Amino acid sequence: MIQPTSLLELTKTELTARLAAWGAPRYRADQVWEWVYKKLATDAAEMTNLPVALREQLAAELPITPLTVAAERRSQDNQTIKWLFRLPDGQTIETVLMLYDQRQTVCISTQVGCAMGCVFCATGQAGLARNLSAGEIVAQVLAAARWLAGRQETADAAHDQSAQPGPASANQRLTNIVVMGMGEPFANYERTWAALRTLTDPQAFGLGARHITVSTVGLPQGIRKMAEEPLQLNLAVSLHAANDTLRTQLVPINHRYPIAEVMAAVRDYIGRTKRRVTFEYALMHRINDSPAHARELSGLLKGLLCHVNLIPLNPVAESPYQPATPENAAAFQQILAARGIPATVRLRRGLDIDAGCGQLRRRMNN
Ligand code: SAH
Ligand code: SF4
Repeated sequence: MIQPTSLLELTKTELTARLAAWGAPRYRADQVWEWVYKKLATDAAEMTNLPVALREQLAAELPITPLTVAAERRSQDNQTIKWLFRLPDGQTIETVLMLYDQRQTVCISTQVGCAMGCVFCATGQAGLARNLSAGEIVAQVLAAARWLAGRQETADAAHDQSAQPGPASANQRLTNIVVMGMGEPFANYERTWAALRTLTDPQAFGLGARHITVSTVGLPQGIRKMAEEPLQLNLAVSLHAANDTLRTQLVPINHRYPIAEVMAAVRDYIGRTKRRVTFEYALMHRINDSPAHARELSGLLKGLLCHVNLIPLNPVAESPYQPATPENAAAFQQILAARGIPATVRLRRGLDIDAGCGQLRRRMNN
């Protein structure tokens, strides 16, 4: 059976045209848009200010979400929720919601798998299946926002736990998006940006661009393209090593785009946007966590408008890579700080629920 297109694939203009073709007046598109992006409707049946016939046509031809819940996990402290979502073609992707005191951040995927093959990453080990569509990217954010609003996704898995109620304070809003789930956003650039345009559009989901961070493995042409975008998003670059020999071992795409090319693109980006760039550095025991590595990194980043996130590695099953010790992480951070490079050691979230990139999908597929 051919799956009908999700409404989330459409721009407002496309939706207006579609409804016009059905004979509906123009303002109906505004109403539908509001139901979907502001009231977070999951079903056209909820759209009570629309004629019944239009609701039925919408339900049949433009279902709202392309996602169903294949699994849901909550960390013991209830601060991290991870979903494995099933897509219409049966593929699965991960989305993680992280609850902090003042912020609620969703981490979204842009591809099913990833072609970049980073050796410490569960997603990279599985290879690339396909790109996500814009609607599949948008849908992850809406699902997290609905959960925060105390609403539920449809579920089809026997072991699914989503029938449980949402959070106690049910009217929390989603405040941040990080594009740091499965996949390389710059390898699926147009669809990722189409999704981000909808998510930032004040008439649609309307999240401020400054509350969104896009993380890349370091594809120079993507970094340069992003610098030209009108949206003021934040850029994060996954560096993990400051010399090409080590970086190529950890991040194989470095062979094609070595550090000097990545850094040249980052410098152009900062020159153009005047925005601070985040560098991610997954600290791996005895691989990239020595004082010498910290000094090398500070040399590379000297004078740059940047911040370094030091993330003790999330261990991946059957992988030899282990997290740096807390002592080594602290020493690494202090060396950077002493050389004027602002750096934070990030807490690892949701270790008990395979919250690291690609880990839950991998477990469920095994
Ligand atoms: N492909 C993009 C975005 C998705 S990965 C990128 O690589 O930046 C998001 C972040 O998670 C990256 O910084 C990536 O290096 C990091 N990551 C992947 N596997 C990890 C692991 N096992 N432990 C810690 N960080 C990991
Ligand atoms: Fe892909 Fe990012 Fe994982 Fe590397 S770290 S394999 S680029 S998802």
